[in-house]
Amino acid sequence: MDVYGLIGNPVGHSLSPPMHEAGYDELGLDARYVTFEPAPDAAARAVDAAAALGVRGLNVTIPFKRDVLDAVDADPLAARIGAVNTIDLGPTTDAGDSVRPRGYNTDAAGVTRALAHHDVDPSGAEAVVIGAGGAGRAAAFALADADASVHVANRTAERAHELAGDVPRATGSGLDDLESRVAGADLLVNATSVGMESPEKTPVPAAALHGDLTVLDAVYTPIETRLLRDAADAGATTVDGAWMLLFQGVEAFEIWTGATAPVAAMNAALRDRLE
Ligand code: NAP
Repeated sequence: MDVYGLIGNPVGHSLSPPMHEAGYDELGLDARYVTFEPAPDAAARAVDAAAALGVRGLNVTIPFKRDVLDAVDADPLAARIGAVNTIDLGPTTDAGDSVRPRGYNTDAAGVTRALAHHDVDPSGAEAVVIGAGGAGRAAAFALADADASVHVANRTAERAHELAGDVPRATGSGLDDLESRVAGADLLVNATSVGMESPEKTPVPAAALHGDLTVLDAVYTPIETRLLRDAADAGATTVDGAWMLLFQGVEAFEIWTGATAPVAAMNAALRDRLE
């Protein structure tokens, strides 16, 4: 049996086990997905331990996405983003040695594949990404690499400027001119946690939303945020955060197994737990 897993702290409410196991079941793979909660300073040791135990792949979540960089060979995109959320530990060799773990950032593919699933092509789009944390970094790189022009808007303007400096052709600012930025945009990604703790809150006033916009909200609890409701009312195309969560998992599944992931089965398992 192949074992895959998640390291994070906490991981108690993760939706990844049912999502991935639905994929294994659908394809008839003899595999299981388990969660691990290492101590805050033990990320690199946890990766080594998983490799020694023959675990085939790990997802990585808060607070370890940066910490594991030293324990893996990061692929170029993960290195540019500065965070790893998927580690391929590979099979051990006949001699019992495992190859050096390879690190990926599938949150970026989560954004572009969620958009593609809704027939949204970021190429040539004017995109506004709100947020400059982990999700914001992944979204900004993903969209720039898909040939969108990216503006990063963040509560702490300095972090927006810093991220914009790393991303090709991107600009950055605080939130002061957010409404006019969104009014002129084709694509909006909320990569802040606004709307999660307080579901009545939204990062963008409804008046700024419009029918030519596609809005992807990274928040997935609740699945229908106030931002997405306002966007739908304005006639915008909406993509909820569960699609991003699904496709980051689909991408990891495909890296690990080499198989085409059964998207519908994984989506059904995820949405069962969210709705
Ligand atoms: P993070 O690294 O902690 O970043 C949080 C971001 O939110 C920062 O840019 C922060 O701005 C901003 N923020 C927080 N509270 C705010 C407020 N009241 N007003 C304005 N901005 C605020 O977190 P993260 O990992 O990027 O996650 C962000 C959200 O994306 C979370 O809801 C998370 O669940 C979601 N997410 C979803 C997926 C998915 O697959 N759907 C994947 C990853 C994350 P400052 O820099 O000013 O603090």
